[in-house]
Amino acid sequence: MIVTKFGGTSVGDAAAIARTATIVRERLDRHPVVVTSALAGTTNRLIEIAQQAAAGQLIVALSIIEELRARHFAAIDALLGADAVADEITVETGAMFDELAHLAEALSVLGDLTPRSHDAVAAMGERLAAPIVAAALAKAGVPAVFVDARRVMATTADFGRAEPRTDEIAIHCRTHILPLVRQGKVPVLGGYIGATAEGVTTTLGRGGSDYSASLFGAAMDAEAIEIWTDVDGMLTADPRVVSDARLIEHIRFDEAAELATFGAKVLHPNTIAPAVRRGIPVYVFNSRNPKGRGTRITFDAPRLPVRAIAGKARTVVVKIRSPRMLATPGAMRAIFEVFERNRTSVDVVATSVVSVSVTVDDDQHLEAVVAQLSAFGDVTVERGRGIVALVGAGLGESTETMARALTGLGDLRLHMVSLSATGINLTLIVDGDSVNEAMQRLHRTFFPSEAA
Ligand code: ADP
Ligand code: ASP
Ligand code: MG
Repeated sequence: MIVTKFGGTSVGDAAAIARTATIVRERLDRHPVVVTSALAGTTNRLIEIAQQAAAGQLIVALSIIEELRARHFAAIDALLGADAVADEITVETGAMFDELAHLAEALSVLGDLTPRSHDAVAAMGERLAAPIVAAALAKAGVPAVFVDARRVMATTADFGRAEPRTDEIAIHCRTHILPLVRQGKVPVLGGYIGATAEGVTTTLGRGGSDYSASLFGAAMDAEAIEIWTDVDGMLTADPRVVSDARLIEHIRFDEAAELATFGAKVLHPNTIAPAVRRGIPVYVFNSRNPKGRGTRITFDAPRLPVRAIAGKARTVVVKIRSPRMLATPGAMRAIFEVFERNRTSVDVVATSVVSVSVTVDDDQHLEAVVAQLSAFGDVTVERGRGIVALVGAGLGESTETMARALTGLGDLRLHMVSLSATGINLTLIVDGDSVNEAMQRLHRTFFPSEAA
């Protein structure tokens, strides 16, 4: 059994869904379970609907709903034509759009967007897409069956970033998915969405369909997890930033996880952990180029000093200065407890005797963090920074590589440098608006173009 996940662009319209159907049909002998994202761009539009409605702009929200309705019906028409299944999907889809309109109306009356109602709206994209994809696969000769992911993906009630409840997920997979697989059927589930023990809809966080796929794969001990997207695999950098980024054919789990965490959007940062626990290889393929070699992510790719470069703008640096406290035992623990209490995860840390600098990329609870940290000393917040990460399992053993990285940055301003304890990741904090330039310079340093 394999889990095959199709991202937004792989199900963006009828033509893309048809390509996806071919990919799944060619894998029938491997017993695929399909995880689908929302049609490309839908989740962004849904979040706009929720925000506009809660801000009292109901007309705007309803007009976006109509745009999405037209887009989904166009896909249904093109893929399913006119038959009994098409009629059924049309009715179900129409009912979901009515539900969405009611939600928008309720939000506009309340004038407040809670995390819970945010998830109710954001989850609509995958709820809409999965039955359409299942019906399209069936029409293309795949014995596909839609399964509501909320019956399987058990989560905590942390709306917006719900945590999986893995024991329950395993039980639900045994009850709702594996019997279908044994009957030769192809279950089709939406990624990204789940439900609490009480049945309230949740989401795993943006880009979370990859994570759904690996959670389902781990729960069912899949042979492989395939992530189908719009690029040829994991590349040496984001191709939107570095135009001559190259395909990585084989990469280690730990390297892929670092890259995802530091900005390689091709994988959700949590995707790797469930696969590692079960030793399940993860592949990344291009649904527009299904014959491509793709990327294989496993334990055993050779250790290179530099495998790839990732980057993300919009990082916040928090500095705590305290001449008295920081050298005293327990001071670090107390500082990190503040971040933990406020559910803010820290990416990069650098210390001196009198100061600690950390980076965070989620500033939702920053005000509370700063207020509580002030008990330890002077706190300053520097917004508008960015992170560039050089990743390679052999990096820590190569001082020369680190020297080349710093030289490669040239005159770009450097605010912090950190080599991870495992020596796999050299993280450089630069100005947010020079992240792309830094990535390009480092890419030229370590992956000079073949023509040059
Ligand atoms: P999907 O909708 O299929 O989940 P995403 O947009 O989430 O697709 O992820 C694919 C995108 O990730 C690519 O189009 C690419 O711009 C971006 N990306 C960033 N870093 C990398 C990288 N190192 N390798 C490949 N793609 C990357
Ligand atoms: N549709 C969701 C999002 O856009 C999840 C995903 O695509 O992985 O964030
Ligand atoms: Mg994605």
